[in-house]
Amino acid sequence: MSRKLIEFRDVSFRYGEEQPWVLKNCSFEIYEGEWVAIIGHNGSGKSTIAKLINGLLFPQKGEILIDGQQVNEETIWDIRKEVGMVFQNPDNQFVGTTVQDDVAFGMENRGTPREEMVTRIEETLSAVGMEDYRFTEPHRLSGGQKQRVAIASVLAISPKVLILDEATAMLDPKGRTEIMRTVSNVQNKEALSLITITHDLQEVVQADRVIVMNNGEIWDRATPREIFSKKDSLREIGLDVPFVAILADELKEKGINLTKEPLN
Ligand code: ADP
Repeated sequence: MSRKLIEFRDVSFRYGEEQPWVLKNCSFEIYEGEWVAIIGHNGSGKSTIAKLINGLLFPQKGEILIDGQQVNEETIWDIRKEVGMVFQNPDNQFVGTTVQDDVAFGMENRGTPREEMVTRIEETLSAVGMEDYRFTEPHRLSGGQKQRVAIASVLAISPKVLILDEATAMLDPKGRTEIMRTVSNVQNKEALSLITITHDLQEVVQADRVIVMNNGEIWDRATPREIFSKKDSLREIGLDVPFVAILADELKEKGINLTKEPLN
């Protein structure tokens, strides 16, 4: 059995004493090397889960363990080194004047030796298919390319967990496809756990497991195939199963992976 990297034990959270509970008794585990998609309608609690994993918020009830370490005020700085996050807006994530500077930024802050930095820049840009853009200014890139660089920048610091919180939401269909291919490629190349947060069921096809959120509770957890087989009840909680997702999942079961072509 591989290592448990994330554990939620009976976690409840609210944004203030007078506020309603937005997460209610949530328990789940995510293992090393696993790709878990968290899906649910808007406001179901997905982003709150991401912020709790990263120690941006703390639960009022229950506990959260990252690689065996409890997330609390004392451990958050260590834990943030292990958890990389990519958010929705590609334009809010750049700090460097070139793609290469951007990927180097997090490593420079940690005092990574220069030689190691150069190798890691090459490795991570190639993992996201952006190795030809090292010296490009970020504002010249498409939305999908920007998000790929954002993923490389996070990977450069070798996190144990990579969370993509609606990272495709602001992209056009081409950009979305780019990101889903990138994520799949990265999961093959880097030993990490991946969490993709989305409200689009099309994006869960390639995940190993899916956690479905509804009004702050875990409504279901299963493989994509099992989840898609419940399309009528999914519709009742505001989630539509696109035909293409069912088709892609069936092909995956037969060993045909629709989105594993090399990046270009
Ligand atoms: P999702 O990511 O699934 O859209 P969120 O985790 O962002 O859901 O939100 C869950 C609930 O918490 C929603 O009802 C939302 O309105 C509420 N919420 C989110 N952020 C805050 C905040 N900063 N203060 C108060 N309520 C919030």
